[in-house]
Amino acid sequence: MKALVYDGPRRVSVKDVPDARVERPTDVLVKITATNICGSDLHMYEGRTDFDTGRIFGHENLGEVIAVGSGVDRVRVGDLVCLPFNVSCGFCRNCEKGLTAFCLSTNPDPRMAGAAYGFAGMGPWEGGQAELLRVPYGDHNCLVLPEEAREKQTDYVMLSDIFPTGWHSTELARVQPGDTVVIYGAGPVGCMAALSATLKSAGKIMVVDRHPDRLALVEQIGAIPVDDSQGSPVDRVLEETGGLGADCGCECVGYQAHDPQGNEHPNLTLNNLVQSVKATGTIGVVGIFVPQDPGSPDTLYKEGEVAFDYGMFWMKGQGMGTGQCNVKAYNRQLCTLIEAGKAEPSWIVSHELTLDQASDGYEHFDARDNGWTKVVLHPDGSR
Ligand code: NAD
Ligand code: ZN
Repeated sequence: MKALVYDGPRRVSVKDVPDARVERPTDVLVKITATNICGSDLHMYEGRTDFDTGRIFGHENLGEVIAVGSGVDRVRVGDLVCLPFNVSCGFCRNCEKGLTAFCLSTNPDPRMAGAAYGFAGMGPWEGGQAELLRVPYGDHNCLVLPEEAREKQTDYVMLSDIFPTGWHSTELARVQPGDTVVIYGAGPVGCMAALSATLKSAGKIMVVDRHPDRLALVEQIGAIPVDDSQGSPVDRVLEETGGLGADCGCECVGYQAHDPQGNEHPNLTLNNLVQSVKATGTIGVVGIFVPQDPGSPDTLYKEGEVAFDYGMFWMKGQGMGTGQCNVKAYNRQLCTLIEAGKAEPSWIVSHELTLDQASDGYEHFDARDNGWTKVVLHPDGSR
C-alpha cells in the first residue's frame, strides 16, 4: 500500500510499504477515505519528538471497513467508520471509566498510559495517512457513521480528534451557559473549542491568535478575535470582562507557544491564562506538553519543566485540567449534532488533497501560511 512516511525533520514522502492487515481476531481493516493533518503531526514533522523515521503519520482517520477479524461482532464490512485517535482496549481500569486516552494496555511502555495511531511515544500503531489502517479492538474503537457521512466526510472526520478535543477543553474548563470564555490558539483545535463553547451557549467567547485567516474563522461563528500582535491579549480580555477576567480559559496551542515575533516560550499561554481568567475560574489545557524536548530553546523545558506562575494561580484559587482527549467520551454525541445539522466542523477546512500532494500540505500547514487552516487528505484519490 501507499503511505506517508516520516523521513526526518520537515521531510515526508509517499512510499510503498507492506499492506496493513487483520493481525488479531479483534482487528478491523479500514480503507482510508479521509485523514487529516493535525497540529500534533507538526510537532513530530518538525523533529521535536522522537518519532522514528520510516513510520507512518496519521491519527485523524475515517474510512470504509473492508475486512474484520473472526472475533468482531458489531462492525461489518462496508460500514463507514470514524476512528478515535486514541487506540484503547475498552477493558482496562481507565477505559472502564471512559478514560480511553489513558488506556493501560495499548501502550507497551509501562511508564505511559494511552496510545494513538502514528504518534511519538504512544505505542507501535501505524498511522492512517495511508491506503489502509489496522484498527485494534475494532468493535470498541469504531464509531459507525450514518449514511449521510459518505457525502460529508470533511465534517465527520473531525470526530476522530479535533472536534472532541475542542469540546474536551471546554469540559476541562467547565464552560456553562452564559460563561465568558477565553481561548488561546485559533488553530483547528482552538476553532473547535470556540465551536464547542458556542454549542454550550457561552455568553462571550474570545479567541487569541495572530493569523488573520484563523481569526476570521472564529469570527464567522460569533467569537471575538483577539490579535495579540496588536497588543496585550490579557488587557483585551480584562477589558471585555469588566476587569474581572474570563470565567473559563482554554489552552489550544501547546509547548511550541511563541510570541508574535516567533520566539518560543512554553510558559506563555499558561501564564497568560492565569492572568486573563478570573479568580476561581477554570483552565483546560489540551495543547500538547511533553516530558522531554531537547530541541527547546528554553533551558527548563528541555526537561519538560515550565516556569509557571503558580503563585498567582494559587492566590486566584483557579483550577486546571489537562491531557489528551478521551475521544470516545464525546464522539457519539458530537456525531449526532452533525447529523442534526447543529454543528458543521468542516467550516475550517481549507484544502482537500491526495496522498501524493500531502508533502505540500505539510509544508504549508506547518508554515501556517495564509489560507492553510486545515488539510484533509483523501488516500483513495476521491478528491
Ligand atoms: P496549530 O499549530 O495549527 O494551531 C496552534 C495555533 O496557536 C496557531 O494558529 C498559532 O498561531 C497559535 N499560537 C501560537 N502561539 C500562541 C500564543 N502565544 N498565543 C495565542 N496563540 C498562539 O495546531 P492545532 O491543530 O490547532 O493543535 C493545537 C494544539 O493542540 C497542538 O499542541 C496539538 O498537538 C494539540 N492537540 C491536543 C490534543 C489532545 O487530545 N489534547 C488533540 C489534538 C491536538
Ligand atoms: Zn490530531
